[in-house]
Amino acid sequence: MKAVVLEFHQETNSFNPNVCTRDYFEQSRIAVGEELFRLMDKPCVLGGIFQALQEENVEIIPGISMFTMSGGRVDQRVMDEFINTSIKIINQHNHVDAVFISLHGATETTVYEDCSGQIIESIRKVVGHDTVIAASTDMHANITTKMVENCNIICGYQTYPHVDHFKTGYRTGTLGLSCLLDKNKPRMIQVKLPMIVPASGYTTMSGPFAELMNEGKSYVEKGEIIDFSIYQMQPWLDIEDASSSVIVIAREETVAEEFALLLAKRLYNLRENFKPNLYSIDQVIEIAENNVSDKPVVLVDSADSTNAGATGDSVAVVKKLLDRKSTLKTAIAVVDAPAANLAHKTGVGNKTTFSLGGTKLPEINETIEVECYVKSLHDGIFIQEGPAGRGMTNNIGPSAVLQVGNINILVCRHIFGNGDPQLFRAFGMEPTLYELLIVKACTSFRAAYSKFTDKIYDTDTPGAASVDLMNLPFKRLPKNFYPFNSLNEYKIDEIIYGKR
Ligand SMILES: [Zn+2]
Repeated sequence: MKAVVLEFHQETNSFNPNVCTRDYFEQSRIAVGEELFRLMDKPCVLGGIFQALQEENVEIIPGISMFTMSGGRVDQRVMDEFINTSIKIINQHNHVDAVFISLHGATETTVYEDCSGQIIESIRKVVGHDTVIAASTDMHANITTKMVENCNIICGYQTYPHVDHFKTGYRTGTLGLSCLLDKNKPRMIQVKLPMIVPASGYTTMSGPFAELMNEGKSYVEKGEIIDFSIYQMQPWLDIEDASSSVIVIAREETVAEEFALLLAKRLYNLRENFKPNLYSIDQVIEIAENNVSDKPVVLVDSADSTNAGATGDSVAVVKKLLDRKSTLKTAIAVVDAPAANLAHKTGVGNKTTFSLGGTKLPEINETIEVECYVKSLHDGIFIQEGPAGRGMTNNIGPSAVLQVGNINILVCRHIFGNGDPQLFRAFGMEPTLYELLIVKACTSFRAAYSKFTDKIYDTDTPGAASVDLMNLPFKRLPKNFYPFNSLNEYKIDEIIYGKR
């Protein structure tokens, strides 16, 4: 047996107008052919796929991996390069038995709304219908009709925060091979739901979503189904074929459908439970002003998290602090290349007037004019302390720490390692010595920050990854879609669609 292994990974935020070019992929990973084997045994999706294939002595044909994190729409040339390289490698063989592909699954390009569906359809056209195509995806994927029609198997992460990359790859690998090896082949059914909910409103560690995942796992353990994925579509994707969905894989199609409907109904009925409790910016500032402990207050600005594809250029909290003439000792990082350049020109120890914020997304993020003192200048390279990604090197580009009153502002070209305290510490901003820390991340920072503070507040802030979905300029989502319509007048069976 011969199997091709591929990977295309990027999470698109449709409200971020900055195109995600090839540079972003280069910074993370572009690997072709044998280079993919360095991911063997690594705790990533491809590591899991390789493991499953090796266990069955499958001849592995390494294809291409193009990998980056979140951002605006992907430059179409990147997707074209991926498809062309994949097809070239497939065509070097007379016949391949299977194609395994690791996708994020919520990806848009500058041309195609459904990048993942387009990729899979292109590969299907080349390999024909006798070849198995098995795809792994993120839990926040948008599983489109095109993807389901062209894949034999689709598996999503079952954890959030995501910690089961390898396991998801392994599930995809074994299930894909099962389509080739078993007499009674696995059948896949998808049920779609017209809903999105903010990603900060649930986790698989506890609460109602964790219970739902455990219910799905119990069906697998009892042998009623083989596999399931519950998709909470990432909510900043504005495309026509959009849905949250459930995929169930079983030996019988009727069984898969029965359980997919069951889990989809439970997911839909939980929708109101996924609303996060948010504080206003003023409330969190007041909490910090009244904080008598020596622990810093963390204002969670997830709406401007570059991890969620937002632009990182918001100074909304700084503006509030200045308006209130607050004296809180505050730390924040802001994507603002012009300000970083001006700081380097101005030099350490000098003052000048800066236009701060709104350099990437001026429609949402305001600009403020303020005189700042240039405290320090940096090359932007730092090493993460972890626990997540300990030892990883990040480069936020030429950067500077500006000071206005008691506020320290790290201005930089990009923000990477949002959730790591070294984003402040490495630039001379010791997080434990501040009274207010503005952290532009959603969940990734909690493990590191909870070591030195329990005063963490999810805050209603503006940004391309706003938790308040009603305030984002959606244009392309289907007409009847939660939370924009309550859909309460419909029976669940009337709104479920896409059964297969
Ligand atoms: Zn995700």
